[in-house]
Amino acid sequence: MLFELTPLPYEIDALEPYISERTLELHYGKLQDTYVHCLNNLVKGTKFEDSELETIIRVSDGSIFNNASQVFNHTFYFDGLISADKSCLRGPFMRVLTGNFGSVQFLKDSFIKCAASLFGSGWVWLLLNPKGTIEIIHESNAGNPLRRGLKPLLTCDLWEHGYFLDYQNRRPDYVNAFWNVINWKIIEERYDNARNDR
Ligand code: MN
Repeated sequence: MLFELTPLPYEIDALEPYISERTLELHYGKLQDTYVHCLNNLVKGTKFEDSELETIIRVSDGSIFNNASQVFNHTFYFDGLISADKSCLRGPFMRVLTGNFGSVQFLKDSFIKCAASLFGSGWVWLLLNPKGTIEIIHESNAGNPLRRGLKPLLTCDLWEHGYFLDYQNRRPDYVNAFWNVINWKIIEERYDNARNDR
């Protein structure tokens, strides 16, 4: 089985001005493409050759884990976004988020704070935990909540390659801008699927 670079569900400039076309060209077109190719080369001839991506993430280590997880994380990140004029948080899911965090503003502030407090590269995640509540965590490097039985709903890439061209070292400004291009419809679908899986 060969892993493939999945198409972006929007045009390369759709996230302007919050995430630039230039950033997406490099981040999706070059970096994600490289992770996919590396993963294919690494699993060739190993016991993971015919495994599903999530299986590899749960049980592998080292380079295979790093590349498999980066493929998953980037796809999950890109697929969770949409142009700002189409980003819409609907009432029912807004009530779910408000029930967990008190307000959407508090959720956003907590998400940005969690992102800012990660030392070095990694990812900030909104996820459903086994208790059925929604929480925010960060993971270093290629870290992945699937390994701990947590159900990811939304992620923001905190590696500098994801924002340095647009925001230089201002990570909180990037995450604040990222908030404008979240595809809440997809996040709600992920939440519904995660709940049905429990
Ligand atoms: Mn990245």
